[in-house]
Amino acid sequence: MKILVVEDEMQLADALSEILKRNMYSVDTSYDGISGLDNAMTGIYDCIVLDIMLPGMNGIDVLRNLRANKVNSPVLLLTARSEVEDKINGLDCGADDYLTKPFITGELLARIRALTRRKGEIVDDNKLDFNGLMLNKDTCSVMWEGNDVKLSLKEFQIMELLISNPRRILPKERIIEKIWGYESDVEYNNIEVYISFLRKKLASISAPVQIKTARGIGYSLEQEE
Ligand code: CA
Repeated sequence: MKILVVEDEMQLADALSEILKRNMYSVDTSYDGISGLDNAMTGIYDCIVLDIMLPGMNGIDVLRNLRANKVNSPVLLLTARSEVEDKINGLDCGADDYLTKPFITGELLARIRALTRRKGEIVDDNKLDFNGLMLNKDTCSVMWEGNDVKLSLKEFQIMELLISNPRRILPKERIIEKIWGYESDVEYNNIEVYISFLRKKLASISAPVQIKTARGIGYSLEQEE
């Protein structure tokens, strides 16, 4: 499980990171709102611990941006006792829970466990399978052996195309047609950006598949050797 801590008080951020690592989470830390948003936008986190008062961009705006971009990672807001208004605001903007500072470690861990508990796994029509790699329409995520990662809509659509055409080279023109439509002015390097996000996400769940580049043509989904 991967957790992002966004907290500008470095001592607190580093202490949180240490506690979480000791509890078997893998942890990334951001010390300001802008880099926090940058990291969180990858959608690879199972939970984001987000402080409200942050330099650069406050936690509420980070959260608002995430939800507007369909990043649905659970968010646990950290609030000071005086920030009641922000707390309500945060929950309205899509925070899943909040914790008032100062808090005890046990409570933080319990909240994170609750937020990251996995739903029952049922295989149905809304799932596509490639050698055990599962693409799930309901949750807009891709899963390998119990690890899953959320995809943005475009990433999902590209992954869906790749999984539906395994081991075949998909030309970039076809990807654009299928996903953006004929009229679109999307350029090839836009696709490259999405492919590179997808590769990172597949690596983040240790999926033994790779998106290969057929130079000058397009991409294909292959099993890792
Ligand atoms: Ca702060």
